[in-house]
Amino acid sequence: GEVTQREAVEAASARIAATQGTLNTFITPDGPAFPAADLSASPLAGVPMAYKDNISTRGVKTTCASKILGDFQPPYDATAVERLSAAGAVSMGKLNMDEFAMGSTSETSWYGSVRNPWDTGRAAGGSSGGAAAAVAAGQVWYAIASDTGGSIRQPAAHCGVTGMKPTYGAVSRYGLIAYASSLDQLGPIARSAADCAAVLDVMMGGDPRDGTSLDIPAGKLLASLSGDLRGRRVGIPADCFGDGLDGEVSRAVLAAAEVLKGRGAQVETFALPAVRYAVPAYYIIACAEASSNLSRFDGVKYGWRAEGYGDLNDLYCATRTGGFGREVKRRILLGTFVLSAGYYDAYYKKALQVKAVIKRAFDEAFEKYDLLLTPVTPATAPRLGESLSDPLKMYLGDVYTVSVNLAGLPAASMPCGFDAQGLPIGAQLIGPALGEQAVLDGAHAFQ
Ligand code: GLN
Repeated sequence: GEVTQREAVEAASARIAATQGTLNTFITPDGPAFPAADLSASPLAGVPMAYKDNISTRGVKTTCASKILGDFQPPYDATAVERLSAAGAVSMGKLNMDEFAMGSTSETSWYGSVRNPWDTGRAAGGSSGGAAAAVAAGQVWYAIASDTGGSIRQPAAHCGVTGMKPTYGAVSRYGLIAYASSLDQLGPIARSAADCAAVLDVMMGGDPRDGTSLDIPAGKLLASLSGDLRGRRVGIPADCFGDGLDGEVSRAVLAAAEVLKGRGAQVETFALPAVRYAVPAYYIIACAEASSNLSRFDGVKYGWRAEGYGDLNDLYCATRTGGFGREVKRRILLGTFVLSAGYYDAYYKKALQVKAVIKRAFDEAFEKYDLLLTPVTPATAPRLGESLSDPLKMYLGDVYTVSVNLAGLPAASMPCGFDAQGLPIGAQLIGPALGEQAVLDGAHAFQ
């Protein structure tokens, strides 16, 4: 029979109560003011979901998993929250993440690490680890997260669920607390490509409050979804299957190519050497923008303020020293350095040139292909504590995801198998700008 709104919310609440202590997925559980959604409003009406904690929710704590925003309650909703609420979405609260979305394991959170539901000794991935783990554990039907360099796709892969980063500008960033504004996008993590389509149909579209948002018509992604891939051309970049890729991950992703072929797609391998330079370019650009975006957290206007300071400069210094964690400070310092006079041309300007080269390489690839298939991560979920000691290794783990943000393209991560230890493996489908439908069709072919 039909599940009522009340039953759906009660099931989600019970599941959260039973698993929050182990998984630490929520920073702020927010039992819904009892919903009175009009169930005919949209397929999302009455469905329990949750938001990553860097998405502004009016009157509900939004911490970015940082001490510095400990008690911050935004006075307004993000545009995405407004649109989802209007469609009848029922928020169960705010989800754990890496501090300011900086990280790949959801271990840099001030509120403690998220645990992977498949193996609680392992990380859920990051930075949207709370979002991916909450969906994988059945706490919510879907979650809204952000992806600056893989933060939707990578945790989705590690938790065996589907995540979608839309084209840059397809979803308004108004109310998303910025990490790197030229790369940030909001998107869904859900149980299927169809659910991602339903959510994107509501979220996508222009917004006068975000000057980079694209004026595109309201989505028909769900209505048009088809797993029939006859006539679609899929390219596999050989450069994504070289050194550093785990053998089991490689085999599972190549098996995914066979599934696409079975649905009628033509699949071939090609060279995309530009992606080799994506990680250094990404970390320079992301840190540069972060150092600028995070300058607003100074203890004056909102958030946590250090006690016992001397003059104004001392207030800034004491607040930022005590309020930010190690990874955030490392990136602010790196970003400030690459933007400084004397190093700007050598690092930041170079990185922008690399970004342009990568974008051009993707443009050329999409003259021949409708979709590209790659791994999401070099390996399955790491053990908790393994990554924090070696940040450079963690950064290199972003090799398959960050080029997509540099090029502003849509991409999905969908489950394509398991390793010998039973940990989920994800495959990534990348589309041309505004090719959301093609990406979701490809992901749908797996379900
Ligand atoms: N792991 C990447 C980083 O730390 C991606 C983060 C993200 O997409 N927010 O920058």
